[in-house]
Amino acid sequence: MKIAILPGDGIGPEIVAEAVRVIEALRTDGLKAELESAPIGGAGYDAAGDPLPDPTLKLAQAADAVVLGAVGGPKYDTLPRPQRPEQGLLRIRQALGLFTNLRPAIVYDELADASALKREVVAGLDLMILRELTGDIYFGQPRGQRRLDDGQREGFDTMKYSESEIRRIAHVGFAIARKRAKKLCSVDKANVLDTSILWREVVNEVAKEYPDVALSHMYVDNAAMQLVRAPKQFDVILTGNMFGDILSDEASMLTGSIGMLPSASLDAAGKGLYEPIHGSAPDIAGKGVANPLATILSIAMLLRHSGGDEESAARIEAAVKAVLKAGYRTGDIAQPGMRTVGTREMGDAVVAALARHR
Ligand code: NAD
Repeated sequence: MKIAILPGDGIGPEIVAEAVRVIEALRTDGLKAELESAPIGGAGYDAAGDPLPDPTLKLAQAADAVVLGAVGGPKYDTLPRPQRPEQGLLRIRQALGLFTNLRPAIVYDELADASALKREVVAGLDLMILRELTGDIYFGQPRGQRRLDDGQREGFDTMKYSESEIRRIAHVGFAIARKRAKKLCSVDKANVLDTSILWREVVNEVAKEYPDVALSHMYVDNAAMQLVRAPKQFDVILTGNMFGDILSDEASMLTGSIGMLPSASLDAAGKGLYEPIHGSAPDIAGKGVANPLATILSIAMLLRHSGGDEESAARIEAAVKAVLKAGYRTGDIAQPGMRTVGTREMGDAVVAALARHR
C-alpha cells in the first residue's frame, strides 16, 4: 500500500509520528506499506502559500490511503478564506470524492467514567455513524443571500439528494451493518422534508438486497434524544450530511474522550482518508501531551477499510485496549489522581503491546 502522511498543524505532527511508528512496527512484521509525507493546512500555507499544495494533492491522489493529523491554528485565523487551513481539508475530501464518512463511537470499559453520562448508559457502547459527506444542504445550489421586496435580507440554502447519491451511501451502510450486528437505523426528517421522503424510499429499496440486515427508520430529533437516553440500542446509524454532522459530534461526546476517536472518509473504491475527529489542539501543541490513540486507531480503520487487512486492524485495537487496561492515560482521559503519560510514552506502550499481540 502507498500511504500519504499529512501531519498538518498543532498537535498533528506529534500524534501522526506515533501512528507512523505503529505502521513501522507492523512493517517489521510483514505489512507492505510505503509512506510519504507532505504538508497540508497551515503547514501547506507556510510551505507553498496554499493549504493544499499541488504536490500534496498529487501524492494523495496517487496513494491508496491518506493519514491526516489535524489542521488549523490561531496563526492562520486572519487569512483570507481560500488560504485558511480548513480549506485544505474540504478541498482534499472533494478532490478524492470521499462521500462516506465513518465515525465509530466506542466506550472502552476502562474509560466509561470519562463520559458525562452514567456508566450503565454508555458502558460497552460500540456504535458506528455513517454520514454522507458530499451532498445535502452543505453543497446544494442555489444558496446565498438576497434582498427581499420589503428591503430586509434573506439567507437561503438548498437541501437536496439525488437517488443515486442516496443509493450509494445506503449500500455502504448495509455492507457495514452486515459485518457488525446487522442492525441499520436510517435517520431522516421524512415527516417534514421532501428530501427525506426520497431518502427513506431509496433506503427501503436498497434494503431488499440485504434481507439479513434489520432496517429501522428514525426521525432526527428522536435520534438526537435516543442517543443520550439509550445509545446502545444502535449498531449502525446511516444519515445525510447535515444530520450526520450533528449526530456524530453528539455521539463522540458519549465516550467523553475526544482524543480516542478515529474516523474514515471513503470513496467508492474503498480508498480513504483517515484522521482523528479532534482538531489541532493549539492549547497543548508542542508540549508532548496530546493523546495519539485516535490517530493510532485511525490506522486500524485504514488497514480494515482500504487495506483489507482485518488481522492487523484488530491487532492495533487489541494493543490499544491492552494499554488502557494496563493503566496508561494521557491527560485528556485520566481520572483525578491517576498518573499520566505523554504522547511519546503512549506510542511506546502501544508499540510494545503490539509486539505482545502477534
Ligand atoms: P480541538 O479538537 O483541537 O480541541 C478541543 C479540546 O480538546 C482542546 O482543549 C484540546 O486540547 C483537546 N484535545 C483535542 N485533541 C486532543 C488530543 N488528541 N489529546 C488531548 N487533548 C485533545 O478543537 P478546537 O480547539 O475547537 O479547534 C482547534 C483548531 O483545530 C482550530 O483551528 C480548528 O479549526 C481546528 N480543527 C481542525 C479539525 C480537523 O483538522 N479535522 C477538526 C476540528 C477543529
